[in-house]
Amino acid sequence: MIGNVPVGGGAPVSVQSMTTTPTTDVDATLQEIAELTAAGCDIVRVAVPSQDDADALPAIAAKSQLPVVADIHFQPKYVFAAIEAGCAAVRVNPGNIKKFDDRVGEIARAARDAGVPIRIGVNAGSLDPRMLAEHGQPSAEALVESALWECSLFEEHGFHDIKISVKHHDPLVMIEAYRGLAERCDYPLHLGVTEAGPPPQGTIKSTAAFAVLLAEGIGDTIRVSLSAPPVEEVKAGTQILQSLGLRPRSLEIVSCPSCGRAQVDVYKLTEEVNAAFEDFPVPLRVAVMGCVVNGPGEAREADIGVSSGNGKGQIFVRGEVVRTVPESKIVETLVEEALKLTDSESGA
Ligand code: SF4
Repeated sequence: MIGNVPVGGGAPVSVQSMTTTPTTDVDATLQEIAELTAAGCDIVRVAVPSQDDADALPAIAAKSQLPVVADIHFQPKYVFAAIEAGCAAVRVNPGNIKKFDDRVGEIARAARDAGVPIRIGVNAGSLDPRMLAEHGQPSAEALVESALWECSLFEEHGFHDIKISVKHHDPLVMIEAYRGLAERCDYPLHLGVTEAGPPPQGTIKSTAAFAVLLAEGIGDTIRVSLSAPPVEEVKAGTQILQSLGLRPRSLEIVSCPSCGRAQVDVYKLTEEVNAAFEDFPVPLRVAVMGCVVNGPGEAREADIGVSSGNGKGQIFVRGEVVRTVPESKIVETLVEEALKLTDSESGA
């Protein structure tokens, strides 16, 4: 359990992100967490690079709507501070903690007493120097060996409440590492392609890697690391899970790519429809088709849809044409019909 979120053991795959505000700024951090919560995030991580950040943790952990994972590098003393502050979990990167082995017993004891799980987060960029010397590079095998060795340090102290990540910027190396890890241990795994870059590159790298691994049943929590606001990470992570059938769909826009037959500006109309339905309270499949070739067929498959032609839009609801309206009225008519549909189905 990360707070109230079950992880592993057949629990639904969770979406994580990380705040970008200075952790010392409690209000700004809580505001960002509120935005992440609204976007569908399940678990949030906050960086703890200094004592001032550690001092802010009690207020953040107490008021956050999401379980808070404290992210600790370099200084074991912040691990104890995070546990005491009421954080739901602690992420440590043993490769970045000098003489980590000497402190494991104390960390394991404190975490066990508080019921706080530890994520062992191995990163290609900060692999334990001993592993790097042995393997020559942060290969998949080096990442796996490093993670398992770090787990064994905790296991020696009877501590098994562990989640592992072995992140690499190359999706192929990352996939190989997680496969290796899944073969050799039974701990829950947190998936991430690290330093994946800005969207769409970062989103695509993460999607490619996560799709392969999740299809094989590997992965319990995910983070789409992006050089973009964290809400974008959560939206991407949620859509990956929805596309793989691992999370119920919210809004699904089925829109055509447009072509020479289009009789409407499909991109603009799709954007407007997306914006109009983004916060719609009920999950819907909304079709936006640029002409009558595939339009009516696809629009019929959706809960609601439009097929355009000759400056007009044929509005479909559950396979039936209900109205034909001028192009300028398409978006508002779709919203009107969606409200009628959801009211009638909820018995309102
Ligand atoms: Fe082209 Fe019509 Fe298909 Fe859209 S629905 S891609 S406009 S043929």
